[in-house]
Amino acid sequence: MKECNQCGKCCIKYGGGDLSASQDEIDLWELFNPEIFEYVKNDEIWFDPSSGLRLATCPFLEVAPKKDPLAKNMYTCSIYLDRPEDCRHYPSLISEMVRDECEMIEPIDIKNHVRAQNKLDVIMIYSRS
Ligand code: SF4
Ligand code: SF4
Repeated sequence: MKECNQCGKCCIKYGGGDLSASQDEIDLWELFNPEIFEYVKNDEIWFDPSSGLRLATCPFLEVAPKKDPLAKNMYTCSIYLDRPEDCRHYPSLISEMVRDECEMIEPIDIKNHVRAQNKLDVIMIYSRS
């Protein structure tokens, strides 16, 4: 199991309509993060504040600056500390990581899901609490 390399596949895959936020998160954004709350509509995320249409990609996903223009893109989350729990909990299962081609996965993890899951659970302990 490798560290997350910010390949962005998870945010690209799920950020456009497959994420949800809890009512508590939405209420907190409304109070303290209006720049996030403006992308919420009918308690769902993420919607264009101007058109009201659902966005195809997460508006908070950004390509990290890079020195070499030919280098592979790395991604950052501009609301990292306030991102939804859905995002904080990813990745949670080896099977979903394999399916999503998460780049934390190594060949040995595919051979031994139980060991890989144990490693993942340790890596993710603080994100899930
Ligand atoms: S809120 Fe952040 S972590 Fe969640 S999908 Fe968007 S960029 Fe990714
Ligand atoms: S797909 Fe995996 S390696 Fe890529 S950003 Fe998401 S968690 Fe990190």
